[in-house]
Amino acid sequence: MAGDERIVIVGAGVGGLRAAERLRELNFDGELVIIGDELRRPYHRPAISKHMVAGTTRPADLALKANIELDARWRLGTRATHLETDRRLVHLPGGEEMRYDGLIIATGVMPRHLIGAPRHDPRVRVLRTVEDALAVRAALAASDRPAVVIGGGLIGSEFAATMRQIGRDVTLVGHSLAPLHRFGPRVSKAVTEQHQRHRAGIAMSTLVRHWITTKHAVGLHLTTDQLLVASVVVLAIGSVPAVEWLRGSGLNIDDGILCDASLYAEGADDVVVVGDTARWPNLRFDEVPRRVEHWLNAVESGRAAAENLMAGRSRSEPYMPMPRAWSTQYGVRMQMAGIPSLGDDTVALDDGITGYVRKGQLVGICSWDRPKAMMQWTAELERRLPIPLTLPVPEPEEVMQPFPMNSSIPSISALAAELSN
Ligand SMILES: Cc1cc2nc3c(=O)[nH]c(=O)nc-3n(C[C@H](O)[C@H](O)[C@H](O)COP(=O)(O)OP(=O)(O)OC[C@H]3O[C@@H](n4cnc5c(N)ncnc54)[C@H](O)[C@@H]3O)c2cc1C
Repeated sequence: MAGDERIVIVGAGVGGLRAAERLRELNFDGELVIIGDELRRPYHRPAISKHMVAGTTRPADLALKANIELDARWRLGTRATHLETDRRLVHLPGGEEMRYDGLIIATGVMPRHLIGAPRHDPRVRVLRTVEDALAVRAALAASDRPAVVIGGGLIGSEFAATMRQIGRDVTLVGHSLAPLHRFGPRVSKAVTEQHQRHRAGIAMSTLVRHWITTKHAVGLHLTTDQLLVASVVVLAIGSVPAVEWLRGSGLNIDDGILCDASLYAEGADDVVVVGDTARWPNLRFDEVPRRVEHWLNAVESGRAAAENLMAGRSRSEPYMPMPRAWSTQYGVRMQMAGIPSLGDDTVALDDGITGYVRKGQLVGICSWDRPKAMMQWTAELERRLPIPLTLPVPEPEEVMQPFPMNSSIPSISALAAELSN
């Protein structure tokens, strides 16, 4: 590999880090530049809604380590502002242009904004970064009034559980019927009972009608006429892919970056996409491109995308993981595998596992406090949804030339065999 070639990674989260690591494992010896708009190196983001807001972890404890010397040029606190794929340029603030031979996009997602919420008020926060968690801690320290979290999904539910664990009153507000409603009645009931047992307030099937901010508190008037007075309000109503900077680049950025099955961005031959922001068809399930917003997917797609960038588009291999994720609430582990949201029905499987079924086929599973059974059912799901032996054949004009850097690189399977020797 020539030493004058440069791979640029935009997004210094876990996906970007694991992609960088894999490039060096595959003996990429060119220049590696990692651009991240946060001031910190990659860290364990799932801890933000758990140990970080509880105050039981320091930011330094969350830092992720690379398993190999990266020898990378870190450009932290730097936001990529634009991409020109035809000139292979990432634009940075101040008119700076960063040329690349290969580009890895790993910019993740941004919290969704709640229309009408007073976001200028320091006590109204989202939870994505270490700085967000520190700001929530500061607001909690400034007042002993209860906390409020808007959003009955995983992050909202985790935050409510964390508040109760540190002895703070909290109300979980959501517009759905119950917390984690999208996981079906069994899971939703289990988590609701946990919140009730720990005396977390639950205000579901409601929206905020008015916000009132005073020097001492934030007030929320709900459509159910309930009035909540809070020290801090966390907005946890979902996320949107961080792709604004790609507008006008020619990439398809409709709900994430549209990719082929091997994570190559549609519309560019030297750009791969990683983690929460990649929308790709997981051929294990079907040919519909979808995003997956979970930690392990960022890790595994980071490695797969790096391998495929090194192999070149024409020799790349489809990325077909069995998605797996977890959440922790009140010290209880909730686990998911497959794609539960694909299910049009749920079934009660053995050992307290909920199954999600699409046209009679098991496509996902979820459990609450059943780690052992979950391992067995994940293996079963893998058996029922095997990696397809025959893959869709691309049209001849879609077969691209390999990435020029890798002419001396053997195929991924050969590399894997070599690495395992
Ligand atoms: C509070 C919270 C709790 C979570 N808990 C769990 C959990 O329990 N289990 C689980 O499986 N998953 C969890 N997740 C999801 C998991 O953290 C993500 O799936 C994972 O972090 C995705 O990694 P990523 O590298 O794709 O993106 P990220 O980790 O989001 O990293 C992307 C990075 O790119 C930066 N960036 C964005 N745009 C630009 C730009 N234009 N220029 C430069 N840099 C840019 C971002 O600021 C960020 O630093 C949680 C997420 C959050 C927010």
